[in-house]
Amino acid sequence: MGRWGKKMGRSLGLVIGVLVLSACAGTRGDRAFEAQYKLAEVAMSKDIAVLASEEFMGRRPATQGETKTLDYMQGELERAGLVSGTNDPSNPWRAPVPLVTSAALDGTVVFQIGDTDITLVDDEAAALTGSKRALVEEGALVFVGKAQAAVADDQVLGKVAVLQGEPGKSPARREKLFEQGAAAVITIVESTDSIESLQRFSSRERFQLVSELDDNLSVFVTRKAMESTFADWETIEAQADDVGFAPITLPATVRIEASSDRRDAISHNLIGKLPGTRPEAGAVLMLAHWDHFGECGEPGDKDRLCNGAADNASGVAAMLELARRLSASGPHDRDIFVLGTTAEEWGLLGAQAFTENPPVPLDSFVAAFNFDTVAIAPRGSEIGFIGEGETALDPLVIDAIKASGREQGSRVLAEQFLRRQDGWALLQRDVPTVMVSSAFGNEERLNTYLETRYHNASDEVAGMELGGAVEDLLLHEGLIEKVANASEYVVPAIAPVSVPEPIASP
Ligand SMILES: [Zn+2]
Repeated sequence: MGRWGKKMGRSLGLVIGVLVLSACAGTRGDRAFEAQYKLAEVAMSKDIAVLASEEFMGRRPATQGETKTLDYMQGELERAGLVSGTNDPSNPWRAPVPLVTSAALDGTVVFQIGDTDITLVDDEAAALTGSKRALVEEGALVFVGKAQAAVADDQVLGKVAVLQGEPGKSPARREKLFEQGAAAVITIVESTDSIESLQRFSSRERFQLVSELDDNLSVFVTRKAMESTFADWETIEAQADDVGFAPITLPATVRIEASSDRRDAISHNLIGKLPGTRPEAGAVLMLAHWDHFGECGEPGDKDRLCNGAADNASGVAAMLELARRLSASGPHDRDIFVLGTTAEEWGLLGAQAFTENPPVPLDSFVAAFNFDTVAIAPRGSEIGFIGEGETALDPLVIDAIKASGREQGSRVLAEQFLRRQDGWALLQRDVPTVMVSSAFGNEERLNTYLETRYHNASDEVAGMELGGAVEDLLLHEGLIEKVANASEYVVPAIAPVSVPEPIASP
C-alpha cells in the first residue's frame, strides 16, 4: 500500500448492465469450507514466510531481493501450470520497467541584492532536484503569494517563483508553476524543522519511472531567512492577502544550484498467464505488488530491515494460492493473467508501466482484482470494497460479500484508499479493477496497523493476522471463477454518451 494518493485525472465511464448471479459455493462453518480454509491458510503462511524472510532483504526493486522474489514467484506459478504472460519471447515472465533512482546531494541558495550576495545556510534553505545537477543563475524573483489567484504564464515563465507554503496544498501549486515554465519554485516554510526533515527525506534514494521524470528545481526557505534577506518582507508578504493581489517582482536575483545522485535502474513486473479456452472472450487479471523498501529503519536501529510481511508478502501469497487453485479448477474460458508489480511503494510505478505497455490490449481485461496488505483482520471481519461505484463489477462483488456471510465494511474508509493502491493506475485506463479485502473493512483495526507496523521494520510475520485474508481468498476463488466464465459473466455494454435533445422554444 502506498503512502499517498496518486494524482491523476480520469473520466468515469458510465456503465450499465444486468447480471445474472448464481449462488456462491461453500459457506463459513461448512465442513467443506473449513477444509479449504485450512489448506489455503497453510499455503499462504508458507509463501509469506519465504517472501518476508531476511533472505529476501525487504524486496527492494533492482536489488538481489528482487531477483529472489521473482525467482520464487515464477517457480511457484510454473509449478502450478502457468506460462509466461509477457507476450514478449525475449523477456519471458519478467517485463522490464526502466526506473531512475535519485537521492539529493547538495544545494546552495544565494540571493543577490545589488552588489551584495547573501548565502543561505543549511538550516535556512534546502534546494532539491531529481536530476544530476540543476542550476539557475541570476534568476529573476517573482512573489506569487499563495498562487491561488490565476498567475499568468508570462509572469513566471523562466523566472523563480516565490510561493507561500501551505500544508497539503503547496505540491499542487508548485506543480502548476512548473507547468507554467517557472525555472525554480521557492516555497516559504515556517521552521528549520521542516527544512531538516525535507533534507533527510530527499537524501533517501527514491524511484521514478523514466517515462515521467521530475527534473524540477524545488527550493524551501524559512520565513526567517526571507525576513533577514529582504528588509520589507513582512509588508510584501502581507499583500498576498489583498483582494486582487498580483504577483510582485522582487528587487533581487537568485543563484540556485542543486545536485542529486541519479542512476538508471531496471526493475521488472512479473507476468504469468493461465491460458483459457476462449481467449477471444477477454481476460481476467489478478495483481499484487511484490516490492517493498528493503532497509528502511532509522540509522542505528537494531532491526533496519522492512520485511513487508503484510505489505505486501500477504497480497502476493493470496495471489499465488489463487493461481494454484484456479489452475486446478481450470481450464476456464477466459485467460487469467497474474501480475506482480514493482515499485508500488514509490507511487504505483509498476502498475503504471503495465498500463503503458500491456501484454494484451487493456480493453481485453473484463475484470481485475488487486491484493495489497491483505493480512490485518481476523476471521469473520467485515469486508472493505475498494473501487465500489467505479466499475460494472459492483453487483457481482456485493453478492459475493453477502454470500460469504460477512458484512460489508465502511464505504467511507474504502474510498480513502482508492488512490493508494495499484488498482487506481488501472482504473485510470478504464480497466475495471477492484480490491475486496477485510483489511480495509474496519477503521480502528486498520489504524492500529498503520500506526504501529505500516512501512516499519515491525511489519513481520510474527503478530500478523491471517484469518480474514484466507476467507477473502476463498471469496475471490468463487468470484474469479465466475468472471472467467464467459457465459456466466457477460461484460455489460457501456452506455452510449447521450446527446441532449435541443430544448424546443415555447
Ligand atoms: Zn506500502
